Amino acid sequence: MRADLLKKELNIFTFGDLLEHFPFRHIDRTKVNQVSEMTAETDFAQVAGVLLSFEIIGQRAGKRLVAQFKDKTGILELTWFQGLNWVQKLLEPGRSYLVFGRVGFFNGKPQMVHPELELLVPDQPVGKNFLEPVYSTTEKLRARGLGGRQIGKLTQVLLAQVREKDIEENIPGALLQQLKLEGRYKAFQQIHFPQSEEEYLRAVKRLKFEELFLAQVRMNLLRSQRHRFSRGVLFEKVGDFFNDCYKNHLPFELTGAQKRVIREIRADTATGKQMNRLLQGDVGSGKTIVAVLTMLLAVDNGFQACLMAPTEILARQHYQSVGALLEKIGVPVKLLTGSVKSAERKKILQELSTGELKILLGTHAVIEEVVQFKNLGLVIIDEQHRFGVEQRARLWKKAETPPHMLVMTATPIPRTLAMTAYGDLDYSVIDELPPGRQPVTTVHRYESQRSRVMDFIRSEIAKGRQVYIIFPLIEESAKMDYENLMKGYENVKAYFPEPGYWISMVHGKQPAEQKELNMKRFVEQDTQIMVSTTVIEVGVNVPNASVMVIESAEKFGLSQLHQLRGRVGRGAEKSYCVLLTGSKLGNDARERIHIMTSTNNGFEIAEKDLELRGPGEIEGTRQSGALNFRLASIVQDRDLLEIAGKMAVSLLEKDPDLVSAENLQLKKFLHYRKGPVQWSKIA
Ligand code: ADP
Ligand code: MG
Repeated sequence: MRADLLKKELNIFTFGDLLEHFPFRHIDRTKVNQVSEMTAETDFAQVAGVLLSFEIIGQRAGKRLVAQFKDKTGILELTWFQGLNWVQKLLEPGRSYLVFGRVGFFNGKPQMVHPELELLVPDQPVGKNFLEPVYSTTEKLRARGLGGRQIGKLTQVLLAQVREKDIEENIPGALLQQLKLEGRYKAFQQIHFPQSEEEYLRAVKRLKFEELFLAQVRMNLLRSQRHRFSRGVLFEKVGDFFNDCYKNHLPFELTGAQKRVIREIRADTATGKQMNRLLQGDVGSGKTIVAVLTMLLAVDNGFQACLMAPTEILARQHYQSVGALLEKIGVPVKLLTGSVKSAERKKILQELSTGELKILLGTHAVIEEVVQFKNLGLVIIDEQHRFGVEQRARLWKKAETPPHMLVMTATPIPRTLAMTAYGDLDYSVIDELPPGRQPVTTVHRYESQRSRVMDFIRSEIAKGRQVYIIFPLIEESAKMDYENLMKGYENVKAYFPEPGYWISMVHGKQPAEQKELNMKRFVEQDTQIMVSTTVIEVGVNVPNASVMVIESAEKFGLSQLHQLRGRVGRGAEKSYCVLLTGSKLGNDARERIHIMTSTNNGFEIAEKDLELRGPGEIEGTRQSGALNFRLASIVQDRDLLEIAGKMAVSLLEKDPDLVSAENLQLKKFLHYRKGPVQWSKIA
């Protein structure tokens, strides 16, 4: 019964799982606290006293058991909302108990909700263990007698039976010595039941290192195996299309960083192995032209190429700019999105299958089953954080030999994160902006200063510039946000009436044609103001736009704010970003606004974002699962991660297939998620 609950509630299936259910803290059990000492600062407390009385009060959801508990110094109220029947059986007024739990205050009186409770045996000294582990548990488990302490007891019993050979070492001995790390068996014992704080910290360090190291070895192994064994299409030569574009049609001189990345790609695709490369470059760094030249390389070698964008707007924009360039060079290119009419669609599919069509641009419509290429040699994914891993995999399957993959993202990922989440990919970065760009000046304004902001917009428009005004759109409350957007639009209109001003509006609920028309009018400077939701967040390029106003900026995350800001500052004109917020700001929101007004550097912002939100929230890594460590945090344990990465690389350099005796154990671990012991199921 309990086993079933453990599985359901905590995902604990085996003894191994139980051992890996680490305590989240330890308490010094030699201490018994007094009720009179409790203050608002008291966290957990352990109290020995007598149960005076208890009663069940309230109805339905409010139904609860409230008990009065007394030690020598005062009264503590104990409350249970769940498992009342079970708790009731344990309680006997007049008897002595030891209670333990988090202390709270209600109406100035100390109380504990769902405390752990045991009978106090008179002769038994309280606080037997020096450092007693506390485990996370759930209300349901607690109600069935599996509170944080009971889990500790189970673990203790289990650990007493486990021998050193049951918890095999997986880190090579030389490495353990070099880094002075605890052995695995000992670490498991000590993370649960340490004799001292130092012992505990040593155990934690060892187990964190193990997690990070194993992950790094796995990633690096994948990459090196791809380098050695994968088969990929071969781009032997640089041909006429590439050269023609490069020599005659580039609208600007490439930056050094752009040239370097193109060289890296060129080297990759000429090896006969499959390229799997992540290209990072801050917003506006000029990734598109790199994509174009790479596609031409494919076409020069007789292959087709495909560029996939996350939104219809972006795909269309690529089609307009990239398409125009490619047509000059004489390379057939078409656009495929969900709103392409069926006659045109049919034609595209036909031309793709014969190989007549060389380059396909589009949205996720290009990964549909019906889309078949004659010889797809290259897939480029723009702004990859919008695509799931699975979608990427589907593109892969469109050719017999896997096409080269280039994944482009403007969401800067801190280095540590990148090597953890994307360690199996090769990595390029455009770390230089095209010349002549002026940094965007970012300011924070309150709602109450709106009319001043509008005056500023007016003066910029008078200089011939264009303006974005962005409203938040949060999915769960889409209806309300939509109404806000409409209100905002009317409001903007009141400040900027026709015919002196023309406004475009774009949002996710519009039909594609309407979206496109509004976008087009803005691009062609037919309208001066673009009122929009975040659908324009990624990629959109209107160099004449010089002001980005973000309404309710406190509702946006850092990377989103940075993306939005990246829509301006793309031309030679001085650009501005105005973050409009309400007067009351939470701490996190205040911090985000502060970061935005103090730096334009996407990588710096990404680092801060990682600190503020933790890795799970960083876009694009959410599905990867690569960051879900039990103990280690890639934010707090960056140093350890760095070491683990270096060690993994140097180990694989010496023994790429992990065949030497000292690495066999490690290899074995990489194959079993749980390690080599076949733990019996908990029954
Ligand atoms: P992103 O990396 O955000 O996709 P884009 O490729 O859209 O950036 O480029 C942003 C703008 O910079 C475009 O207007 C593009 O034409 C321009 N651009 C790109 N590379 C250069 C360069 N080397 N010199 C000048 N302008 C450039
Ligand atoms: Mg782009």
